[in-house]
Amino acid sequence: MIRRVYLDNNATTPALPEVFAAMRPYFEEYFGNASSIHHHGQRTRQAVERARESVAALLGCRAAEVVFTSGGTEADNLAIFGLVRSGDHIITSAIEHHAVLNACEHASKMLGCEYTCVPVDGSGRIDPEEVRRTLRPNTKLITIMMANNETGVLQPVEEIGKIAAEADVYFHTDAVQAAGKVPINVQRIGCDLLSISGHKIHGPQGTGALYVRKGTQLQPMMFGGRHERSRRAGTENVAGIVGLGMAAEQASAGFERGDAARLASLRDRLEQTVLREVDATSVNGGQAPRVPNTTNICFDYIEGEALVIALDLKGLSISSGSACSSGAIEPSHVLTAMGLAPERARCGIRFSLGKQNTAEDIDIALRLIPETVARLRELSPVYNKKIAVNS
Ligand code: PLP
Repeated sequence: MIRRVYLDNNATTPALPEVFAAMRPYFEEYFGNASSIHHHGQRTRQAVERARESVAALLGCRAAEVVFTSGGTEADNLAIFGLVRSGDHIITSAIEHHAVLNACEHASKMLGCEYTCVPVDGSGRIDPEEVRRTLRPNTKLITIMMANNETGVLQPVEEIGKIAAEADVYFHTDAVQAAGKVPINVQRIGCDLLSISGHKIHGPQGTGALYVRKGTQLQPMMFGGRHERSRRAGTENVAGIVGLGMAAEQASAGFERGDAARLASLRDRLEQTVLREVDATSVNGGQAPRVPNTTNICFDYIEGEALVIALDLKGLSISSGSACSSGAIEPSHVLTAMGLAPERARCGIRFSLGKQNTAEDIDIALRLIPETVARLRELSPVYNKKIAVNS
């Protein structure tokens, strides 16, 4: 039987045993509705509020500023639709997750907002001065991610936070791929809103949170009861929230333990060995500051999708940023925004590590990658022509 190795932790992470153990009682003995005033309700209310403290500790904010949501997508949508109105201008970037890009597009089509995407340079970084130049008198919101999901590149959010404060414009950052990987402090960033997702930090899928700075006038997206201080109606997903809280506690403890340095050293070994042993490879965003768990590598002359499928058959789960739309493989919008031609952007592969990954996982990946790339390139007429020309 093949030993499967999972290096797609930016897609989702396995829940930690501590997370699952913390959640379990909330499906069985502690099943009360957190809004009920009786014993059962009080028990779950306490658990929800404890989880809120844990998330607040991870983000450096007050517990009352944390709104639980169904995930990163909802948190991003709540930040955007909670603030913008017809006629408002939004500044975002070309490399955002679709949870932000499509929300901005919807705000423009349905609400009559306008939005501008600032570009990135070849290393995948946004120039804060470009954000400043893009400000308009009607700019209401800047929404720029903290770390990119495909390349792991960290954005200069603190500088952007200062620009937003000077211009008196709201600043939201999607920190879904930064949380648990780099320390986050909302005061230092100077943001008004910040999104996280449970399943990217070894918590449960379908959980997330939005930090909302005290005093921010946020309109709810859903109407119902007065849950989450009237910012997000609906009976709380208690077990999920407890799991998210435990994942946040574990993420905070991970910084003390040095988890980030361990992951960075595994990631760097993977990256450097691939660059050394496989020709025509390059790292996208390698010159920029990055989260410790992610590397995005172009394997020239190979379709990323083909490599993902071939490696999956051998037991390695990774991903390409390309998306299949209407039967055609669309190159990654992140890599094309960094200036890669579409055919090169289609060669990009993302390897993303999680806390469960070991040195042995990297050994296995490094055994599989060179042989699989070589076999696929044997079938590539363009690669063979290049070899013939160079020999
Ligand atoms: N934002 C970023 C940067 C992401 O990577 C993701 C998920 O991949 C999301 C938002 C959406 O989060 P969720 O899957 O919790 O809805």
